[in-house]
Amino acid sequence: MKYYITTPIFYPNASPHIGTAYTTVAADAFARYHRMKGDDVYFLTGTDENAQKIVQTAEGKGLDPKAYVDGVVERFKALWDELDISNDDFIRTTEERHHKVVKEIFTKLYEQGDIYKSEYEGWYCTPCETFWTENKLIDGKCPNPDCGREVELLKEESYFFKLSKYQDDLLNYIKENPEFIQPVSRRNEMVKFIEGGLEDLCVSRTTFQWGIQVPFDPKHVVYVWLDALINYISALDYPDGELYHKFWPAEVHLMGKDIVRFHAVIWPIILIALGVPLPKLVYGHGWFLSKEGGKISKSRGNVQDSFELINRYGSDAIRYFLLREMQVGTDGTYSEDNLVDRLNSDLANDLGNFVSRSLAMIVKYRGGIIPQASEDTALEAELKTLCQEVKAQVEERLEAHDPAGALENLWRFVSRLNKYVDETAPWALAKQEGEQARLDTVLHTFAEAIRILAILSAPFMPKLPGKIVRLLGVEEGFIRWEDASRWDILEPGIQVEKGEPLFPRVDLSQYDLEQESKKTVNEINTTEKMNETIAQAPNQVEGKAPDKLVNTEAPAQEAEAEFEPIKDEISIDDFAKIDLRVAKVLAAEKVQKADKLLKLEIEVAGKPRTIVSGIAQHYAPEELVGKYVVIVANLKPVKLRGIMSEGMILAASHGTVLEVLSLDKEIAAGARVK
Ligand SMILES: [Zn+2]
Repeated sequence: MKYYITTPIFYPNASPHIGTAYTTVAADAFARYHRMKGDDVYFLTGTDENAQKIVQTAEGKGLDPKAYVDGVVERFKALWDELDISNDDFIRTTEERHHKVVKEIFTKLYEQGDIYKSEYEGWYCTPCETFWTENKLIDGKCPNPDCGREVELLKEESYFFKLSKYQDDLLNYIKENPEFIQPVSRRNEMVKFIEGGLEDLCVSRTTFQWGIQVPFDPKHVVYVWLDALINYISALDYPDGELYHKFWPAEVHLMGKDIVRFHAVIWPIILIALGVPLPKLVYGHGWFLSKEGGKISKSRGNVQDSFELINRYGSDAIRYFLLREMQVGTDGTYSEDNLVDRLNSDLANDLGNFVSRSLAMIVKYRGGIIPQASEDTALEAELKTLCQEVKAQVEERLEAHDPAGALENLWRFVSRLNKYVDETAPWALAKQEGEQARLDTVLHTFAEAIRILAILSAPFMPKLPGKIVRLLGVEEGFIRWEDASRWDILEPGIQVEKGEPLFPRVDLSQYDLEQESKKTVNEINTTEKMNETIAQAPNQVEGKAPDKLVNTEAPAQEAEAEFEPIKDEISIDDFAKIDLRVAKVLAAEKVQKADKLLKLEIEVAGKPRTIVSGIAQHYAPEELVGKYVVIVANLKPVKLRGIMSEGMILAASHGTVLEVLSLDKEIAAGARVK
């Protein structure tokens, strides 16, 4: 099967930022997945360089436009390299191969009467490169909410493309091919827009010379969309190139929702007029918005340097964050602390921790040699069934262009694996002579699960598989999509390594953040995260560095962990400051998106309170309801995941075991404990 995927060509008027990276990262994940499935993939991205604004920006910097765009294009290419984008081609609309095809198409459309010469008059905003009709202007200025600048009345001779002529053909096509524009909400918008009537499109300008000249009338240059959209076939050497015959029509044009209109209206009409088949899918995803709700853009000052972010957190983590955070049909929220949150919880705690724990145990109990598995128990059987199911769902979600959904499903497997470690308790098996064969099976299952995780996460995080195969002591050839549902790939006897943590936890406060206002936000969040870390480890005390509280050590070592040293002496007065009370648990529920946290509604001395506690991996919410527990009643409230937690529940913990302190006999909720 062939698979042709494109991103829009980006406008090189400024360096790319993380908000613009989403489309390319998502397209890359789809391209990688299809390659792994064995499809013949062509992945195109590029830059849109023939705009008047480029000339103005270059002039403003005292540069020749070509020299200026060359520089910006290098930044784009460098960013795609840093993000491990695996594009097969990068087209620049200043290239001769593109000019040639645009000229041919323009001439053909003119000769068949679909392009005609007329006169254009309108209010023109140069920064937006848009003509506005008088009634659209706001106070006589550009109505674009991001702009609002002066506009000028321009009248000029122009060529026009007959969009109106093909309006009904396009409507019929969209109705007959409901899959053509997605998500559905975008298709409905487009249908309404087309039904409202299409105006012919201005496709040439005479007020500037930068761009592609109209071959039969060289004072005109081809204007914006007719030029830009053609990149999708000029890159394939339309109409006679081998690539064109092989890869057109595209399986998907991927883009942000703001430019769906051009791809779902102008582009198909150009193709219909040329008698060329239409792409199979135009997919418009949402935007990344800043925490305050606005679009991320340079002019709003909420952009961070992408290179610095990658340097700080690694490209896999950035890719994971972008892909996980943008839900289908909605916008995503970008902020550095969201990113760190995802990195710490999903990558360091869930995925990274599973890999380190399991490898550490293979090293500890079998000298790093993967043992031979014997018979499965119900636990392994359940794991394997889940793995099949998850693989099918990851595929289904990727086919539906929903990377967030794919990752969500994959993480069901990751969570199950962490639970499997606790359920099988290899550290206990290791101590029993009769359980050695069982321990071998568990350790072999760990190794296979790590290999499967490397395969299923490869489209999203391309660096991870390489790291994992090195730890497993195998070749990259072990990363085969079809092997993600097999558990008999790793031969006994392979030597594994414990290695460094794959995703070290990040403490945001270590970074010196430039803006003071920003710093405040981040400080609050860091404190919040620290509180959370403490809540997740109730046996620990405040004041330790957060990374020390994180379970990156193998539980095998934990289970045999030394007891914590007894703390320094305090006086009875010190102890009297701590107000311990009996509380009754009225209700309990999981905190969304936080695997370790439970939100408890309790009653103390006739009053209700809320406490967030890091015990979700040890107690189901319903187990706690009705219990009489002990709380620190005068602990300063802290905010955890947006919930104000008023106090702390006491629990005893050692190794991987945790027990909440509760009373055998009922006693009034509010009774003092001393
Ligand atoms: Zn404007």
